[in-house]
Amino acid sequence: MENFKLINQRYFKIAIVGAGPAGYFTAQAFQKAQNGELSFSIDMIERLPTPWGLVRSGVAPDHPKIKTVSKVFEKIAKEPNFRLFANVELGKDISLKDLRDHYDAVVLATGASKGRKLGIPGEDLANSLSAANFVPWYNSHPDYVNTEVDLSCETAVVIGAGNVAMDVARILAIDPTELDPTDVADHALIKLKQSSIRTVIICGRRGPEHAAFTAPELRDLPKLESTDVYIDFKQIQDAESRIAAISEIEKDLKNNFEVMKLISEYAKKGVERKLEIKFLAAPIEFKGNNKIEEVVFAQNKVENGKVVSSGEKFSIQCGLVISAIGYDSVEYPGITIENGRINNIAGHVEHNLYTTGWAKRGPTGVIGTNKSDSTDVVELIIENLKEPKLSEGITALLKSGHEVIDQLAWEKINASEVISGEIVGKPRVKEVDWKHLISLGRS
Ligand code: NAP
Repeated sequence: MENFKLINQRYFKIAIVGAGPAGYFTAQAFQKAQNGELSFSIDMIERLPTPWGLVRSGVAPDHPKIKTVSKVFEKIAKEPNFRLFANVELGKDISLKDLRDHYDAVVLATGASKGRKLGIPGEDLANSLSAANFVPWYNSHPDYVNTEVDLSCETAVVIGAGNVAMDVARILAIDPTELDPTDVADHALIKLKQSSIRTVIICGRRGPEHAAFTAPELRDLPKLESTDVYIDFKQIQDAESRIAAISEIEKDLKNNFEVMKLISEYAKKGVERKLEIKFLAAPIEFKGNNKIEEVVFAQNKVENGKVVSSGEKFSIQCGLVISAIGYDSVEYPGITIENGRINNIAGHVEHNLYTTGWAKRGPTGVIGTNKSDSTDVVELIIENLKEPKLSEGITALLKSGHEVIDQLAWEKINASEVISGEIVGKPRVKEVDWKHLISLGRS
């Protein structure tokens, strides 16, 4: 009986490119789909010398609970059919064509790392940054250590009404000593402690009813110890009336309204640090002499359910602007990007090439969204699999001498960072230098 099973077992080689949440949940879905007739070997390829994607370089340092999902990733990585190939770049160390020729299916879980642009005058002035650069800077991403961040002004503006805007604004507005027990980058913590910023203004172009913040993130705001948070109560009340006039207010929105009202009514502490959320404020121009000095906004209004300009303008004097208005996927040879995503139908790109996560659906959803998304894509892949290829997989493709960070090397890096953290009372101290990361993996 056992022999019969082995003879009938089909064994497929899967390459997953990108070691972020979408990549790991894809690996997990393949692991769960294994049975007596079907098994997989999973090779995960990652450009950086470290895995975990946005859990390492995106999630805010003061949100450690969200990062605990990394325990799930490590469990997936411990399965015998999983191999990590970090420090391997698609298009440079390995071509997409080679991967497609040698693997039964290739899944691109490469995310969306390019910050969208506003396309307005003055956007390229100094001190106008994208969250796509600022977030990895404070999260120790080796490519962003040298991002120029000037915190010498009093007021910063954050464009966008989503959770990334909220993260960025919170990091700028809180007392940096609140970040002492976190894994924020040391270089960022030093700068934040020297920061002159005392007012941070988040500007959303539509009303509170269209804000992309989620209630748990809003609920964090009144808990900030050294920052007063301001939202105009009337803006929330007006938005509530607009929605109530046309339909019942759905649960998530109701929660958002409730928290926003709570924030606006919350007794202020009278502290120096302020975070304000303004709605119906669409940026139309950044002004300044070489560097940002002012942001000009069109004052929007809601008319018959539509957001339109009221014809009025206003300005905010500030020395730093961070745009947190979404992300696009990065192009690389053999891949077409359309509307910021890899061109795909339900995750299928073409032949044996698939995509999942932000690269597939755009930059939406929380980490857990990638789980169901990846499960759907894996089901589709399994439906399409035919005869397994006979090939050696990645080992035949990499140049000899190329230094791969495999699971064991990553575990050494991980342990070293955690030990460095224990010494100073932090969850970890992330190494920021690429070469040093690789040498930690050798030790
Ligand atoms: P997002 O939720 O899509 O928010 C983007 C914001 O930018 C929206 O308010 C959008 O306004 C605005 N925007 C877009 N184009 C604009 C323009 N030209 N001018 C002015 N504003 C513009 O994206 P995100 O904040 O980057 O977050 C990405 C995903 O990651 C989201 O699903 C988010 O929930 C998730 N995330 C979750 C957490 C967490 O769970 N703690 C943390 C960070 C991120 P319109 O709505 O008017 O387009």
